[in-house]
Amino acid sequence: AKKKGRNRVEIFSDDLRAVTIQTKQTADELLRALEGDAFVPFFQPQFDAQTLAISGVEALARWEHAERGILTPDKFLEVAEGLGRVAEIDALILEKSLFQMTRWGAHGIEIPKLSVNISAQRLKDPKLLGMLGALPTDGYTVAFELLESISFEDQEEYLKAAIRLLKERGVQVEIDDFGSGHASIVSLLELAPHRLKIDRKLVAPIDVSESQRRLVASIIEIGRSLGIGIVAEGVETMTHAEILREMGCQTLQGYAFARPMSSADLMAFAEDWQSR
Ligand code: C2E
Ligand code: CA
Ligand code: CA
Ligand code: CA
Repeated sequence: AKKKGRNRVEIFSDDLRAVTIQTKQTADELLRALEGDAFVPFFQPQFDAQTLAISGVEALARWEHAERGILTPDKFLEVAEGLGRVAEIDALILEKSLFQMTRWGAHGIEIPKLSVNISAQRLKDPKLLGMLGALPTDGYTVAFELLESISFEDQEEYLKAAIRLLKERGVQVEIDDFGSGHASIVSLLELAPHRLKIDRKLVAPIDVSESQRRLVASIIEIGRSLGIGIVAEGVETMTHAEILREMGCQTLQGYAFARPMSSADLMAFAEDWQSR
């Protein structure tokens, strides 16, 4: 039994070593990718639940990896966080997304809103507020999506101050993954975000579970009574879309309509959609 136990420990430490080497490799590659400008935004459209017009796009970071192709954030975000480089990724995703909005506009594709994801690291970045002065003030709205966990668990004053300043500069605030964390009604009132994004784990079961449906309906009701817009993410089927629309959810986002796509694909998609 003793021997078996020792073997088990060895197997475990081999695994651990493999994971450590893997992470180190990813870290080195990620630093090179940042230098080589290999991060780009993909865009997933959002739709007005009533008219089905495109009401905005969410920018989602992608790593264009020379050998492995397009990598999603689950492959690099944690490592970037560990290296303290997420703020840098956030900054260039914002910059490149603003550039694309202008480019699409020049082609007659007008998207009313750009939403970008923003990390706690980035929110604490003094350069952020400098950059906000350069944000476009007309034509479209810029929204920052903050994870529910950032904005509510972290009660630090400067986060609140940063959010206040964002709003003063005309940036909208959206609470991401709402319903997955611990947001209280009190902190919601205090932050007064423009929108809540209902976490996709809450959206998924609404077609099969009456109690899940009621939960989502009550979030939509809270939004209505506080004057906060509601976005449902992870809308995977037209059944989901129809249930959400009937409940009064304003904005729909998910595979039922469109997946995240490159800026060229987004432009073609929007052109098609407008002329549908
Ligand atoms: P998120 O902000 O909650 O983004 C939604 C995620 O759900 C995206 O994954 C999107 O591709 C996926 N998704 C969209 N519609 C559907 C659907 O109908 N079904 C399912 N199952 N999934 C759907 P993605 O692009 O892999 O991003 C994962 C997370 O990485 C994001 O979750 C966000 O938290 C983070 N992230 C992405 N881009 C950035 C960024 O530029 N900066 C920072 N700080 N975080 C980012
Ligand atoms: Ca998001
Ligand atoms: Ca989300
Ligand atoms: Ca999420």
